Amino acid sequence: MAHVDRQAWDVVVVGAGGAGLRAAIEAREAGMRTAVICKSLFGKAHTVMAEGGIAASMGNANEHDNWQVHFRDTMRGGKFLNQWRMAELHAREAPDRVWELETWGALFDRTADGRISQRNFGGHEYPRLAHVGDRTGLELIRTLQQKIVSLQQEDEKEFGAHDARLKVFQECTVTRVLTESNSGSAAGSGRVSGAFCYERESGRFFVLEAPAVVLATGGIGKSFKVTSNSWEYTGDGHALALLAGAPLINMEFVQFHPTGMVWPPSVKGILVTESVRGDGGVLRNSEGKRFMFDYIPDVFKEKYAETEDEGDRWYEDPEHNRRPPELLPRDEVARAINAEVKAGRGSPHGGVYLDVSTRMPAEVIKRRLPSMHHQFKELADVDITAEPMEVGPTCHYVMGGVDVDPDTAAATGVPGLFAAGEVAGGMHGSNRLGGNSLSDLLVFGRRAGLHAAEYAASLADRPVPDPLQIDTAEAEALRPFSAEDTGDGTDAGRVPAENPYTLHQELQQAMNDLVGIIRKESEMFEALKRLADLRVRARRAGVEGHRQYNPGWHLSLDLRNMLLVSECVARAALEREESRGGHTRDDHPAMDRLWRQINLVCELADPQGDSRAADPALGQIRLSRRENPPIRRDLLELFEKDELAKYLTDEELSR
Ligand code: FAD
Repeated sequence: MAHVDRQAWDVVVVGAGGAGLRAAIEAREAGMRTAVICKSLFGKAHTVMAEGGIAASMGNANEHDNWQVHFRDTMRGGKFLNQWRMAELHAREAPDRVWELETWGALFDRTADGRISQRNFGGHEYPRLAHVGDRTGLELIRTLQQKIVSLQQEDEKEFGAHDARLKVFQECTVTRVLTESNSGSAAGSGRVSGAFCYERESGRFFVLEAPAVVLATGGIGKSFKVTSNSWEYTGDGHALALLAGAPLINMEFVQFHPTGMVWPPSVKGILVTESVRGDGGVLRNSEGKRFMFDYIPDVFKEKYAETEDEGDRWYEDPEHNRRPPELLPRDEVARAINAEVKAGRGSPHGGVYLDVSTRMPAEVIKRRLPSMHHQFKELADVDITAEPMEVGPTCHYVMGGVDVDPDTAAATGVPGLFAAGEVAGGMHGSNRLGGNSLSDLLVFGRRAGLHAAEYAASLADRPVPDPLQIDTAEAEALRPFSAEDTGDGTDAGRVPAENPYTLHQELQQAMNDLVGIIRKESEMFEALKRLADLRVRARRAGVEGHRQYNPGWHLSLDLRNMLLVSECVARAALEREESRGGHTRDDHPAMDRLWRQINLVCELADPQGDSRAADPALGQIRLSRRENPPIRRDLLELFEKDELAKYLTDEELSR
């Protein structure tokens, strides 16, 4: 067996974004020795980029808001495919999580009478997003980090070592979740026993042994060419779960945020926060028309303004007017922009216009949207206080993810594995509402930490990592350095190594063009063919040099994850023959009530085998259908029957 350093912990949290940090705080407060491991520098997680705010029905800006209204909005946004229990817990607990942040030192923007200010966002009936200008994620991460430091200071006093019970391993990547020995297999779904990791700077391998591992690795956006996501979003947690034997659900649902920058090319995809529309920004096509009024779908007809005047009055008097259609859920706005551009009414660089300059005084824009003002000035030389922005859809968020128990965040089928945040599936159904991710991180991050701690404490014996899995993980990680080797120990069939950057670009292009915002059967077949080809070539992804900070090597390892996850997205998208939320089929444009009852489950086709040994051309994913559990009656009663009839079958309604 290879010699790798090992350290023993009670709970290992993979990821130091909002979900990971909140989980780690909870596990440590429950008395567990907790390790947090993250790919980037501590504090640089993707959460830091979150702009608009955290959704929580505190009722500060409108006293009619409460958890039931938030639950209703979330279910509507997700087109009723949400794991309803998660949506319930989220809506009930989000206010407590925001108030808790405040007690830990977060400084939110205030209302005139000193309460936490809340702003409008798409799909939310009332102003609900607690915010710090358009830099909310930064404040969230800062506060959680500060809390971690204070816990470490307590440990310094008690044990003489600040990291005695809570340690952060930054710039380290986990490549495998380990389980205990399972009939000598190289992967398995025995109990979790730890994680196999490498230090990005030195390339050194090490194992964090622990009976409980919380995945909090975020999303998958880097599999697409145009994305708002940062380099870290390579679907690692999704892949780690699959490889450990845990299924993913509803991976076809990928959110394309309607407003990303479209120009200049080097910044294409960077997010333009929804707060711009929440604060009054409007969308126009090249003819100057506010086109969103033409795109209000039947399910939302009664809730949105029919005229510009009514929409504009809503900002001042929401009690007596309906909201403007620029604030429809993201999937609707993204499709509308796509249609306008296709119809030849787009802006010069292939987007549409988003304008705040004619809607608010310059100083208000600078105060409420400081990052957007800075972003456009610096990156596109556009002054948003004087001229409109050009925007278009960008891959932003994945609704699908690890199949988890709603209450405990435990992953299905692998004892000791937990998942929270963007990597977990179910909560947002087919489409996430803006602001509901930051609250999701806090609500389910806390739950994951709590239940991981309880699980670890409940075990009579510690699962021991399977030595064979450690050897396999090491060999797998080293493979890019001998990529020309076919792996069978012979020279026969030696072929030149593939460049990981080229493979990544081809993958991104294929996903963007063939499994993007509007999908067709023939294109998805083509995508699966290209993915099969890329999978074969990715086995030969090769790098030169050594293990000390070698980004090409890191990307070669990330490719495994992106390919696995992309296959899940394409397979599930091909299977779901309807359009719903973040999944639009050109050939099946309607939403189908029968499909609402179905979750699509992706599992590794050969969980007991070494993924290296399986024929990579055959595909690695087994897809199955699982019935969605019926929504609890008291929650259904929060809706009018007419509205339910749009989503539920007659049989479900009569039940
Ligand atoms: P992250 O914050 O991404 O953290 C993931 C962590 O996992 C990182 O520390 C990373 O290093 C680590 N990691 C990943 N893989 C590995 C591995 N293999 N080994 C070790 N570590 C690993 N949502 C809102 O609710 N409101 C908003 O206003 C909002 N604005 C947004 C603006 C932008 C520009 C973007 C891109 C997103 C926005 N979102 C917003 C969405 C929200 O920010 C994300 O969904 C959320 O931050 C995800 O948090 P997380 O904790 O799940 O993951």
